[in-house]
Amino acid sequence: MTKRHIFDNFQKTFADEKFFLQQTRVALRNCGLIDPENIYDYLYNAQGYKALATVLETMKPQDVVEAVKKSGIRGRGGAGFPTGLKWEFTAKEKNSEKYIVCNADEGDPGAFMDRSAIEGDPHSIVEGMLIGGYAVGASKGIVYIRAEYPLAVERLEKAFVAARQEGLLGKNILGSKFSFDIEIRLGAGAFVCGEETALINSIEGKRGMPRPRPPFPAVNGVFGKPTLVNNVETWANIPAIFLEGADWFSSIGTEKSKGTKVFALAGKIKNTGLVEVPMGTTLRQIVYDIGGGIPNNKKLKSVQTGGPSGGCLTEKFLDTSIDYESLAAAGSIMGSGGMIIIDEDSCMVNLAKYFIEFTQSESCGKCVPCREGTTRMYELLTRITEGEGKDGDIERLENLGDMMKKSSLCGLGQSAPNPVLSTIKNFRQEYEEHVLLKK
Ligand code: SF4
Repeated sequence: MTKRHIFDNFQKTFADEKFFLQQTRVALRNCGLIDPENIYDYLYNAQGYKALATVLETMKPQDVVEAVKKSGIRGRGGAGFPTGLKWEFTAKEKNSEKYIVCNADEGDPGAFMDRSAIEGDPHSIVEGMLIGGYAVGASKGIVYIRAEYPLAVERLEKAFVAARQEGLLGKNILGSKFSFDIEIRLGAGAFVCGEETALINSIEGKRGMPRPRPPFPAVNGVFGKPTLVNNVETWANIPAIFLEGADWFSSIGTEKSKGTKVFALAGKIKNTGLVEVPMGTTLRQIVYDIGGGIPNNKKLKSVQTGGPSGGCLTEKFLDTSIDYESLAAAGSIMGSGGMIIIDEDSCMVNLAKYFIEFTQSESCGKCVPCREGTTRMYELLTRITEGEGKDGDIERLENLGDMMKKSSLCGLGQSAPNPVLSTIKNFRQEYEEHVLLKK
């Protein structure tokens, strides 16, 4: 596949659709273009498994790790940790048994990037995991996916069967010494199981609760074995990196955030759906050029990025570049790719309450700062939105949020206050008006 091929296919098919033409689809390059249930469509019309064949025939495992490092790709699940480093840590572990895990436990309200990637192009995920397995010396793969995604599960299972029949999964893949197979583990829909140590606990049949780190999964993962966990979007990018080259991949994006990112665009916006853009694209381009702007001539009030763990940005951040560093500097996060557009009619305090209600109900309860902090925050926000707020409630929310960020065990509790703290910072007047209602 040449560089042009990825985009040409896409542009020919969606030539009249402005919404699609302004995107750069790498992770979603085959979605909507191939039959996801037909391996031959992937093999012959999308150069499927060519990256794997090239890797097996021409590269040593350490060269594969180096190529991923050189590409600059960072984990698309939210934290943005350099993927190549994760691969290197797992590859360095001396153990005859290692695991590759695909984290498909997508749980952000309104987000469906992973589901669509699997439903539309399951073989890219399989191929990415195979390349990862070869690079780090693993022979077992697990896709951890929530049971609420039955079509994605069905298409993955069909992909496994077809790949086995073609000698692409199982023993001595493509006649090499490399053997690898994948199985599915269904999750019951707990948001916290998106955190990789909770996910590993769940795979092991334990309650899905995060473990303290270190040890990291690269050292002590599934059943105590070295384990490489990447999310769906990260795996979907891997074959493209080897088809087009690490230099090509790192030429897309910004200095520290390479490649593209998929967002689930939702809320008060004309064009909703999945949007894949190069890192460095501005929020304004997504909202107005791709999203088509706000319906009914309403004013934009806020852009919420990062799902229930993210922050609410005001209009003045519209020219912020979408990359890990810039979003963090603006007071939000990239997260896994949720993007909710909020117009002038929405109440930001109600919105903050909605997100804290979600994280409160999804908190696993293992540590006090998160368990009690989300509960107290929800109580405070409830009384504020019901006109029962008291003097000092806004400061109480700020203190609680600060404490939770510093002392919660995992990312869920550390980031749960973000919607509250960012709305207090950017829309304090709305909180004050709610509290004043009582007087
Ligand atoms: Fe559980 Fe929340 Fe503590 Fe994470 S921060 S371990 S979700 S209680």
